[in-house]
Amino acid sequence: MAVPWYPRSWAPLAAALTLLLVTGCAGGDVPAPRVERSSAAPAPPPDATPGTPTPLTSPDGTDGGTGVEQDIDAAVSVTTTYWQTHWPELFTGGYNPPRILGTYDGGTPGTPVCGSEPLPDDNAVYCPDGDYIAWDMDLMRWGHARGDAWVYLVIAHEWGHAVQNRLDAGLVDLARELQADCLAGAVLFGAAQDGTLTFEEGDTEELADALTALADRTPWTDISDHGDASQRVGYFSRGARSGVKSCLPDVVQ
Ligand SMILES: [Zn+2]
Repeated sequence: MAVPWYPRSWAPLAAALTLLLVTGCAGGDVPAPRVERSSAAPAPPPDATPGTPTPLTSPDGTDGGTGVEQDIDAAVSVTTTYWQTHWPELFTGGYNPPRILGTYDGGTPGTPVCGSEPLPDDNAVYCPDGDYIAWDMDLMRWGHARGDAWVYLVIAHEWGHAVQNRLDAGLVDLARELQADCLAGAVLFGAAQDGTLTFEEGDTEELADALTALADRTPWTDISDHGDASQRVGYFSRGARSGVKSCLPDVVQ
């Protein structure tokens, strides 16, 4: 995935996303990693969110693909730009981006806390107490080895929780995790339409793979559930096809 997935057609996405399986905001058993195609990601825009980790400047193309740090920076940039641009068209009131706490190393003494709890090992979070997004680099490296679309999905999903925290309660779906998937689909495919993100060959399959790898083994029944693979893919696809408003409860559409 590169900054500026052109969706060549909706058919491959629908096909890829219709098949799906996944855990919390991360983790889970996974199939063998796939080989990445190389891609060149432009530098993030200068107005990146305050607190964004400094982009690394490792050269492109020497390792068969972009580095995980570069893809994380690009995903943050693409996601914040999408919400900054489209919020006024969607919601009343101004938009303030969440803070980007960035990388943490879960399971160690220095792990940051959300409230009184250390951030979870090998996971990614939006912490309402502090209004920040953070990710364990082990999760990102593990997922990135399967495909670079992983980091875009994780960041856009967590950002979806930050958006939920900014909405009136009536706009937040009881299935919060699935709504976050829907919002992630709306952002990533909306960004492609805006020209700020380019889909490369294999990216839609990688997204389906990531949603599957991160899904619960059982269908959604409780507010804390993430939903099974077909549900996660279904919600993501809805957002991808029909945008942010399609992720909101029916009453407001
Ligand atoms: Zn989540």
